[in-house]
Amino acid sequence: MDTKPPSSPHVLIFPLPMQGHVNSMLKLTELLLTAGLHITFLISAKDHDRLFRYTTVHGHLNSYSGFRFHVIHGLYEGPVDTGDKLTILFDSLSKVTTPLLRNMLLDSPVACLIADGIMAFPLDAAKGTGVPVFFFRTVSACAFWAYFCIPDLVTSGDIPFQGTDMDKQIVNVKGMEGFLRQRDLPSFFRSDVNNVTLQQIANVTRRTQESHALILNTFDELEGPILSEIRKYCPNIYTIGPLHAHLKSTSSNNLFEEDKTCIGWLDQQSPKSVLYVSFGSITTLTREQLIEFWHGLVNSGKRFLWVIREDLLLNHGGDNKVPSEVKDVTRERGYIVGWVPQQEVLAHPAISAFLTHNGWNSTLESIVEGVPMVSWPFFADQQINSRFVEAVWKLGLDMKDTCDKTIIAKMIKEVMDVKIEDFTKSANRMAKLARECVSKGGSSYRNLDRLIKDIKEMSVRSTDIQVN
Ligand code: UDP
Repeated sequence: MDTKPPSSPHVLIFPLPMQGHVNSMLKLTELLLTAGLHITFLISAKDHDRLFRYTTVHGHLNSYSGFRFHVIHGLYEGPVDTGDKLTILFDSLSKVTTPLLRNMLLDSPVACLIADGIMAFPLDAAKGTGVPVFFFRTVSACAFWAYFCIPDLVTSGDIPFQGTDMDKQIVNVKGMEGFLRQRDLPSFFRSDVNNVTLQQIANVTRRTQESHALILNTFDELEGPILSEIRKYCPNIYTIGPLHAHLKSTSSNNLFEEDKTCIGWLDQQSPKSVLYVSFGSITTLTREQLIEFWHGLVNSGKRFLWVIREDLLLNHGGDNKVPSEVKDVTRERGYIVGWVPQQEVLAHPAISAFLTHNGWNSTLESIVEGVPMVSWPFFADQQINSRFVEAVWKLGLDMKDTCDKTIIAKMIKEVMDVKIEDFTKSANRMAKLARECVSKGGSSYRNLDRLIKDIKEMSVRSTDIQVN
């Protein structure tokens, strides 16, 4: 690492090496660079390589003189579609990155470290260095708050789940009484209390209180009541989302190769006629689930654009290729691609609704474009996001815990036909709020401004300490 002190405040940014995390923390990076800060972005060798291959991010960010990537080698690079595999990734990260971070923090003047708040070890690495650590959480405030409540839910006997009735109401997560059911809690809550992933998430989320501040990619108008609950424990919060909506360009930070032919296909479709289907970068499906979705999509009678990643189908050691008839029959009214420029797709006039896993980035991107959703949450925070989509924000329907062609077709028709007016009205309203909050004077605009000012002040303080 270059040890020459930079003239502008220098910030280290360190995301968990996964698509949704890298994506939103790169957006934050761009916003801070635009404000004149210098950034070192820590990235795994695998993600660095993929960004280089599939995007123009390198050229784009390197046009800022104060930007550099710091590549981390030797991390776990396998799939991360279960809690156990997430734990393997955390272990490898902690082992490799703790000493690296510590050296970086001691080596040169750093105004602050903005670390992905899903990892606790950056707090330990920064201990005694005097460098403030901001925790950036890439999940919704509602997911963060549910994670924060894990110890209380264990005490109240809500975890482990009692009985088999997944519709049992949960009343011990403040602010969510009345609509939260067992099945809506993040998927990790379905395990027993000693589960390592559950414990790690509970622990790291509570440790947010040791960080200097919490940055969330959400906005006050969307999650106000839940944010009020979080503020009782973590008073210093910067809600600065939707991050991508601050930026004029839709430049992608994708770790997969985009197939832009889908835009040409969308151009040929009528306005508001197409269902966009994608389950993000991590979800895997069994062959049976894929076939149910396919039947449901075809039976809905709607046109659809479907992202089938090359690793979407779970490999049980057998055939994990998408059956050829799925591709053949789909040609009549659908278009299948490996990966799309999602923001551009959601903004396309032909799109009517989004069948989504409700990863937080996808949810926010849908909200900003005013696109109603049909939710099929896969894991982690997605179960609670989809509940908010349906029960709180009224932006769509939630089909969690089912994968049935009849339900799939029915929900698609409800969202795209039967209740289209209601959903469009709520989606347009929320999109307007999302756009206003990032406009001059809006809540997220002001919070981002405050964050930048606070970091600049920290930098002055850290330089003073060094000089004295
Ligand atoms: N994405 C994309 N093209 C696709 C599918 C997804 O650009 O074909 C992007 C999407 O815009 C979002 C990210 O990948 O920014 C997925 O993040 P999310 O938090 O929604 O889900 P995750 O992948 O973490 O499960």
